[in-house]
Amino acid sequence: MTEKLSPIIVLLGAPGAGKGTISQYLRDKYGICHFSTGNLLRNEIQNGSDIGLKVKEVVTSGGLVGDDVINEIVEKNLEETVGECSAVVLDGYPRTKRQAEVLDAMVSGRLKALIRVIEISIDKEALISRLSQRLVCSNCGNTYGPLDGKRVCSCGGSLIKRKDDEESTIRERFKKYEEETLPISSYYGDRLVRVSGNGTPEEVAQNVDKVLCDFGVEKRR
Ligand code: AMP
Repeated sequence: MTEKLSPIIVLLGAPGAGKGTISQYLRDKYGICHFSTGNLLRNEIQNGSDIGLKVKEVVTSGGLVGDDVINEIVEKNLEETVGECSAVVLDGYPRTKRQAEVLDAMVSGRLKALIRVIEISIDKEALISRLSQRLVCSNCGNTYGPLDGKRVCSCGGSLIKRKDDEESTIRERFKKYEEETLPISSYYGDRLVRVSGNGTPEEVAQNVDKVLCDFGVEKRR
């Protein structure tokens, strides 16, 4: 009998394209686990770990953490997440071609999984305006946009502006994204499916539903 491989969904898209919101939707409606390198790094920083101290400045200034550090964090944590979940969505990884190559190597090695790639495409100025209004829960990390009209998270945590969502930091992150992450789209070639991120969260969710149906991933009953 052939072993069933868990899908790992790579979500590509500029900062603010809606990767966090889509990840939350996938978790709530499909039961797909959310694996965010940004959250892992912020936890390391908050805990004051060796890695946290090493990456703090880069993360708060909007730069990219080095491939070796990120790949080490992913190798340490992803296998356990894949083992516990029927499907995993990767939010914020890979961000460079080197990271994409390392992920492919993990999957052809120990990781029993199948890579699926979705790119959320969206207009740049709309992104900048959306991100500079974004709030994040200081307790659970959920994100909220201006359309959500929330002041308190549904978990009860207070909503704050992330340091890396200041406008100057956003522009820096966008520049890095264009330089480093766009080549990943060509790396994945016809493994990648493009989805429009313009429109309301409901419209984007419908676009994502169609792709997941093609991937054979089903909604939770
Ligand atoms: P995010 O929450 O995905 O927007 O990530 C926040 C910050 O963490 C980024 O601006 C980077 O500084 C850092 N970061 C997260 N994921 C990666 C990655 N895959 N490679 C390099 N840096 C990362």
